Amino acid sequence: MRAARRFDTDRTYPRLARSNVADRVQLFTEAVARPPPVYGERWVELGARAFRAFEPGRSKLAAAILHRWTGPVPTVEETWLYLGAASGTTASHVADLVGPAGRVYALERSPRSFARLLSLAERWPNLLPILADARAPRAFAHLVPPVRGIYADIAQPDQVAIARENAALFLDRPGAAFVMALKTPSMGRDAEASGHLADAERALRGGFDLAPSVELEPFHRGHYLVGGRARAELFGERPRLTLARPRAPRPGRRAR
Ligand code: SAM
Repeated sequence: MRAARRFDTDRTYPRLARSNVADRVQLFTEAVARPPPVYGERWVELGARAFRAFEPGRSKLAAAILHRWTGPVPTVEETWLYLGAASGTTASHVADLVGPAGRVYALERSPRSFARLLSLAERWPNLLPILADARAPRAFAHLVPPVRGIYADIAQPDQVAIARENAALFLDRPGAAFVMALKTPSMGRDAEASGHLADAERALRGGFDLAPSVELEPFHRGHYLVGGRARAELFGERPRLTLARPRAPRPGRRAR
């Protein structure tokens, strides 16, 4: 495999790299695992390190970063809860970004996608799949510890309410990160995409200091990345529940 010219990282996100490939900026994440590729993405090996192309057409998080998203991005040693991990395309990159000392609790409700997520977790030991419905957080609360960030991509009509309820329950402190991929076509045909975005921001504003939302065209039609940092007010909504202790469970848990 031929190495790209140069990989630039920064102090805040040491496992996120940018490289100029054929006159355009290409994002990479430093891989926790080794090949083969997860979804056909390019890998570049540099000595003991391996970088995976983080494709904006396949990942809304990558598209938002290329569109100058200034909100939170997962970084080293953090623990994140990922709602709607599907077969792990973006979740594997989130696991790369938090690195071997971080954890990603990856929730998915489709058994078929979950099976692929499970096999991915054999190579990404910091990715911990949970088969569960994000609408029922009490059913999996015993599997997830307090987390530093939530990433939600569930494409449901009530995606904002679901993500917010999980944030109130699982985020570990004010200032913790909240990021969601907002799919406006899932929110009904009664409003334009920008109207749905405004509704979502209004619903989130009391609980979060929001970063400017980013539109994900042309990579993901009708989608925005929305999010920011939890405000103390969010925790007033927290129900009294016992969460898991902050350590790694065995991968592939099924919520009771
Ligand atoms: N985040 C993925 C990525 O970038 O690789 C793509 C996610 S796909 C757009 C949405 C996923 O959310 C689907 O796999 C779907 O099964 C899952 N999903 C939808 N509703 C859910 C729920 N209530 N709880 C858990 N997963 C859900």
